[in-house]
Amino acid sequence: MSAPVEPMRLLLLASEPEWAALLHACMPALKGAAVLLTAPDWDAVDSLFSRDRQAVVLTTPALQPAPGRCELPTILLLHSEPEAAPSGVSDWLVSDQVNVDSLRRCLRHVRERGVLVATLQRLAEQDPLTGIANRQGFQALLATRLADHDGRGVALGHLDLDNFRHVNDALGHQSGDRLILQVVLRLKHQLEAGDQLARLGSDEFALLIDTRRDPGRAEWMAERIVEALAEPYWVDGESLLLGCSLGLAHARAQSGADPLMWHAHIAMRQAKATQGCTFHVFNERINRHARSLADLESELRRALRRDELELHYQPRLNLADGRIVGLEALVRWRHAERGLLPPSEFVPLAEQSGLIVPLGYWVIARALRDMQALNTQGLAPLHMAVNLSFRQFQDSQLLATLSRLIAEYGVDAHWLEFELTETAVMRRNERVRQTMDALGRLGVRFSLDDFGTGFSSFVHLNSLPITLLKVDRSFVAKMDMREENRKLVHAMINLAHNLNLEVVAEGVESEAQLALLRGFGCNQVQGFLVSKPLPVDALIPFLLQSSHRQVGVAG
Ligand code: C2E
Ligand code: MG
Ligand code: MG
Repeated sequence: MSAPVEPMRLLLLASEPEWAALLHACMPALKGAAVLLTAPDWDAVDSLFSRDRQAVVLTTPALQPAPGRCELPTILLLHSEPEAAPSGVSDWLVSDQVNVDSLRRCLRHVRERGVLVATLQRLAEQDPLTGIANRQGFQALLATRLADHDGRGVALGHLDLDNFRHVNDALGHQSGDRLILQVVLRLKHQLEAGDQLARLGSDEFALLIDTRRDPGRAEWMAERIVEALAEPYWVDGESLLLGCSLGLAHARAQSGADPLMWHAHIAMRQAKATQGCTFHVFNERINRHARSLADLESELRRALRRDELELHYQPRLNLADGRIVGLEALVRWRHAERGLLPPSEFVPLAEQSGLIVPLGYWVIARALRDMQALNTQGLAPLHMAVNLSFRQFQDSQLLATLSRLIAEYGVDAHWLEFELTETAVMRRNERVRQTMDALGRLGVRFSLDDFGTGFSSFVHLNSLPITLLKVDRSFVAKMDMREENRKLVHAMINLAHNLNLEVVAEGVESEAQLALLRGFGCNQVQGFLVSKPLPVDALIPFLLQSSHRQVGVAG
């Protein structure tokens, strides 16, 4: 069953009259699938169609907008076949080849791409089970909200269900999902216009409560919410009770999103100390003794000084020749009491506190040092990928420090690669762009990490100096489940190739996934199938061995 398709609006913006004639001649054969309109200039395009997803702009190179200027898909009109795919556009048409078929093909391509963009956008910011915002979507909502009202008139709730894991284990995941849906329904009943709800994790939720008209509203809402959630649930004919802990924090002027999230989290932990469904409001005075961001920060700072961090390296395999072509440096914290900690335990904290900047320099320096160590073992040079957080980009010393480190370790900068996440590069920050260009002049390459999880804009993506795109491992993992997921990965790979980017698939764990990816034309893979991240002592024998025989998963 397919919904009736609206005619695609083609918006022609060209000074040469021949284009209008050529395109008009094709229209009758398209039988209402598209309508052709002409626009005098970009301002007209903006005012008429900026919100219209069905519109496609057709324009000539002379009138092509600056990168990021136009959100609509654009088809470039050319007089001869280009040598390389033009950047910043969805597709192109060459004048002497324009006919009904070529136009139809081109429009189909643009439409499919539009569907892919919409799918990625939805996946990126929405929780698939409940349809409410996910963590990513919520962060965007919160940032806008705080910016809109000078950071006032809003309270943040952090809700955690008690013992949800046990329900999941006892009744199975499907029943767990049904329970979550009931929880969301009850929460939605309590919300009013101006409030927002998001799912932060499997049993964690965030609430944005509008307190502009009534400063006490958050507290009485919290009371009603914990009451509503304390009612028994019916799942698969069984009645069950669920405890919950709700932490509330009121935003203060210009206090920012990070402290607000942290305070709501602390309050939630305090609510947890009480059985049943309870809420707790964050109180600055009482929490002076709580383990603050600052305490954790100083512990991490000490770890840096005492050299308690280490890097593990995960190899990247080139599918065409079965050779290892690169490594990704992944940081770990060897904690005296808690053992080897993965980055998820401390990188977010480092990002919040700004400590990511010195930590990041430590990572770069150690990676460069280890690159040199591999060299002295007589190993062929490999690309070294280092993850870079957005905060590190904001450091004014980045370029100078990096140049110094590169010189100090005598490494050729062409082998260095920075992995950035979409959320970082898509902030349309002019500074990000300038820094990327400057680093690029040093020879450093860039890749886009976790592709698909923070999608924003193709047009913008195309305007950045990125060489590689890493398909997030959640997409690779889901390929096993459904045809639809396989199609999505295939489409992502095609898209990257259209943008002249190489593609690395992350988190490849099985031969079956590898075979699919190979069939889709994926360039490189990284994942447990090739190797887990290895400390440098274990990496050297691995590389020595793999340089003798091409790694088994080739061909
Ligand atoms: P990432 O950059 O996407 O790194 C890939 C993560 O996937 C690594 O987790 C890796 O161990 C894991 N992985 C690789 N292959 C497989 C597989 O086949 N199956 C599964 N299930 N997992 C696989 P890790 O090391 O825990 O790193 C997590 C994230 O922490 C990284 O994600 C990266 O965003 C961040 N990170 C790591 N090191 C640094 C760093 O030095 N600086 C910054 N800013 N972030 C870092
Ligand atoms: Mg990475
Ligand atoms: Mg990744």
